[in-house]
This record gives sequence, structure tokens and C-alpha cells, in this order.
Amino acid sequence: MKPDLFEAPDYYLLDELLTEEHKLVRDAARSWVKRDVSPIIEGYAQRAEFPRQIIGGLAEIGAFGPYIPAEYGGAGLDQISYGLIMQEIERGDSGVRSTASVQSSLVMYPIYAYGDEAQRKKYLPKLASGELMGCFGLTEPDHGSNPSGMVTNFRDKGDHFLLNGAKLWISNAPFADIAVVWAKNEEGRIHGLIVERGMEGFSTPETHNKWSLRASATGELIFDNVKVPKENLLPGKSGLGAPLGCLDSARYGIAWGAIGAAMDCYDTALRYSKERIQFDKPIGATQLQQKKLAEMVTEITKAQLLAFRLGQLKNEGRATTAQISMAKRNNVEMALNIAREARQVLGGMGITGEYPIMRHMMNLESVVTYEGTHDIHLLITGADITGFNAFK
Ligand SMILES: Cc1cc2nc3c(=O)[nH]c(=O)nc-3n(C[C@H](O)[C@H](O)[C@H](O)COP(=O)(O)OP(=O)(O)OC[C@H]3O[C@@H](n4cnc5c(N)ncnc54)[C@H](O)[C@@H]3O)c2cc1C
Repeated sequence: MKPDLFEAPDYYLLDELLTEEHKLVRDAARSWVKRDVSPIIEGYAQRAEFPRQIIGGLAEIGAFGPYIPAEYGGAGLDQISYGLIMQEIERGDSGVRSTASVQSSLVMYPIYAYGDEAQRKKYLPKLASGELMGCFGLTEPDHGSNPSGMVTNFRDKGDHFLLNGAKLWISNAPFADIAVVWAKNEEGRIHGLIVERGMEGFSTPETHNKWSLRASATGELIFDNVKVPKENLLPGKSGLGAPLGCLDSARYGIAWGAIGAAMDCYDTALRYSKERIQFDKPIGATQLQQKKLAEMVTEITKAQLLAFRLGQLKNEGRATTAQISMAKRNNVEMALNIAREARQVLGGMGITGEYPIMRHMMNLESVVTYEGTHDIHLLITGADITGFNAFK
């Protein structure tokens, strides 16, 4: 792969709106990605392998629990810092960002927000340092967009719960030490349970042959009469709102992350357009390529403004689920469109691993589907503005 010469576009001088802390956090993540992710990621993606050696670096840049208080090992940062970290990581690779999103928003967040003090102390510091890795089991083979239909269930057996069922498409599953699993009790109420690797009847087979997020490990969670200690139930919140609250946090991070992937594609295409000579002039001097590049930077700028304002609302505790849906949907579609256009700017070179564009493009095909599909987020906006729920 070519050396990482990335320069971030900042067309509307958004850096001026960031605090010194935001910039420090962002720059540390950017340098780490250049040093430790860019040189290796293409090889890992080609081999469909998760680069385990980056776990320590992710912990060091504060990517595991950026907004979790320092007393539990988190970085204690605000939501804009969290967003900027996700942007920089996804600039490197959406699969690496997926690992960090799951650990932070789908494992640490529910333990922090819905767990008791003993659970927080037991798990959060080790998750923050990367000593423990986690995954989040909501999706099932027959229940994706409609998780309320889940059939995974647990029964009260007096001194323990007995867990049965299966989850599909679970990021980090093949190597996770713990899983936050959503399952129904006897009354059909959804609760979160912490399931640990090694519990009898719990297995995590890997999902192979993905064309997308190849540097992220995806798998199943199988529960065959797993005895889960009662103290592993998250007591603070139940019902579908509990996993959906985690998804709000993760989707917010994706809205920022997608900007990173888009910036990398744009920056690569811009540089290439200035260097590639056809018909005795750089292709960047032609109107058609300028149209592509000008539209890319316009869309990135709009997405940056959306994410920044959402970050302010989130810092104030005012960001709604529907606002987060809008940003996730818009920014991921924006990034996917930019990846496709940037791929064309590079001509044949665009399909090779010499440049990151095709990898971003294929990754984004998962990002547009997971954490609520593109269509479902549109329906969430539709329901919010009309008051009519069209997907039920
Ligand atoms: C790489 C990857 C990693 C993932 N990681 C995780 C993870 O860590 N944890 C986890 O729990 N899940 C994870 N997922 C699962 C992901 O969240 C689901 O794939 C997603 O929610 C969609 O579910 P589905 O694939 O079953 O599609 P379906 O729900 O079957 O949807 C298929 C199509 O139908 C559309 N559709 C569905 N309902 C409606 C409706 N009412 N009206 C109109 N259109 C509709 C959808 O928009 C979609 O286009 C991951 C998925 C992938 C691909």
C-alpha cells in the first residue's frame, strides 16, 4: 500500500470550533492511525484477519470508553471528542472502528448505564484497557430490523439463569471475552445479561467469506443451556429501550466515523487527480473530475456540520434518537457515494489494494446496513415527523 499522506479537508474551518482538548485527542488518534493502522490494514483485510495487536493502541488513544468516567478506566471525554476519535479510526478502516464502537457503546455503555456498581468495577477498567474485549448480541437469524421479536430467552432456575438461543452477525464475537446479550425472561421482557467465554454451552463460531469489514471478526453467539450467574443480569434497565439506548450511542459514533472514511477517499482521489496525467494534463484539470471532487468536499462539509451540531446536542443531553438516525443515515450514504465516485477518479488503480478506496467502499456496505439499515433510519425520521409509525 502507498504511504499514508492523509490531509484532512476542513473547508469551513471547523477546527476553529474545536477546543484544545478536542484537537489533542483527534491528533493523537490521527497519528496512531498513520503509524499503526495504515501500514498493516490492507494486508489484514485481504487475509480477512482481525489485527489483534492494535488493541493496546486503541486503548491508549482512549477509543475504549471515551466518555466513560475516569474512575471506571474511561477517558472521561465529551461527545465531540468521542466522535473525533471514531472519525480518525474509521479514516483508517471501518472494521477497526467497529471494534472500538462495540467495545465502547455496546459493551461498556450498557454496563456503565444499566449495570450495578459491582459490575462496573469488575468489567469497565479491564474493558477500557483492552485486557477484556466484548461483543453485543442483539440480532438473531430471524430478527434483524425487528429485534423485539427475538426468541433468545432465559429462565430463572433459582440460583442461576438458564440461557438458550442464538445471535447472528456479532462483531468481535470470535475473540470476545464477554458478551452483553439481550434475551427475554419468562414474561417476555428483554433484559441484558453478561455472558463470559468459558461458560458451558456458550460458543462463538466465526462468520467467513465476507466481502466487507474483512479486518473485523464477525460471528455467531450460540447459547445451549448456558448457566448464567444471577449477578450477571444488568439490573438498571429492561425492555427494548435498553439495547436501543446503546445503539443511539454507537450510531452517533458511526455518524462521525463515516466522515473519516469519506475524507480518506476524497483526499486520495484529490491527490491522484493532481498527479495522474492523461491527454497531456492532470485529470484534476478536467471539468468532469472537478465536479466529482467539488461535490465530495461539499458533502463532507455538510456531514461535518451535522455531526458537530449533533455532538453539541449530545453533550447537553438533548440529542434525540431520530436526530441520531438522520445523521447516521445521511453520513454513511454520503461516505458510500464518495467512495464510489473516488474509485472512479482512480480508474483501474481504484480497485487495487494500493489505495484504500475499494476497502472503504466495501466496508461501508456493512456500515449502511448495521446499527439500523438505511431504510429503517428513514422510517424513524418519517415516524418522527408525521407521528405515524410505518414499519410496524
Ligand atoms: C458486518 C456486520 C456486523 C454486525 N454487527 C452486529 C453486532 O455486533 N451486534 C448485533 O446485534 N448485530 C450486528 N449486525 C446486525 C445488523 O445490525 C443487522 O444486519 C441489521 O440490523 C439488519 O438486519 P438483517 O440483516 O436481519 O436485515 P433485515 O431486517 O432482514 O432487513 C432486510 C431488508 O429489509 C428492509 N426492511 C426490514 N423491515 C422493513 C420495513 N418494516 N419496511 C421497509 N423495509 C424493511 C431492511 O431495511 C433491509 O433493507 C451486524 C451486521 C453486519 C453485516
